[in-house]
Amino acid sequence: MRRRIIVATANSGKLREIVDLFADVPCQLLSMRECWNPLPSIEENGSTFFENACIKANWVFRRSAEWALADDSGLMVDALDGGPGVKSARFAGEQGNGEANNIKLLKALENVACRLRTARFVCSAVLRIDENTLLHADGYCEGLIIDKPRGSGGFGYDPLFVPEGFNRTFAELTSEEKHSISHRGKALKALKEQLYDYLAR
Ligand code: IMP
Repeated sequence: MRRRIIVATANSGKLREIVDLFADVPCQLLSMRECWNPLPSIEENGSTFFENACIKANWVFRRSAEWALADDSGLMVDALDGGPGVKSARFAGEQGNGEANNIKLLKALENVACRLRTARFVCSAVLRIDENTLLHADGYCEGLIIDKPRGSGGFGYDPLFVPEGFNRTFAELTSEEKHSISHRGKALKALKEQLYDYLAR
């Protein structure tokens, strides 16, 4: 029987990407929705992406005894001193409201010149295997925040983020293109390598 991994996220955009990126892993991925009804809300009160990823993975692992995969991620904008950072999901208050977050971000950068609108997406991914085994990898993607949303793919801040070396936003890239350069794509690729090493032991 294939090993089961519960993906510790309630964010459907993120879940879709994680399932895509782990499609070749010889494990069965389950969403939290398949395991809990109603969906639990996990308080993410860590001060770093890594701490929050551990909070989510540990929560799921301790209640299910299954392997738990979590990604904590966000956007760090230089002109906002690294904000919204770990508060990216709730920047405009309501948890997970991507549109309100984008409006608030555009407003906050209203008077900031194009070349100063530098930012990066950050992803800290962890896989809790047992009480003593935690795999961990981080990924980053540099880019610029534009002044009007463009594109309909992806989720969250994707329509406002143009990755370095491209003139299209994350929301205008195909999912394969996004995965090949994104913070999540890089973190999960590195995590997968560690998982293969673990499985081969
Ligand atoms: P988390 O669920 O606390 O890790 O929140 C992540 C938040 O960061 C999301 O709700 C988005 O607002 C933002 N975010 C993270 N990764 C991405 C991405 O790939 N595209 C767009 N927004 C993202």
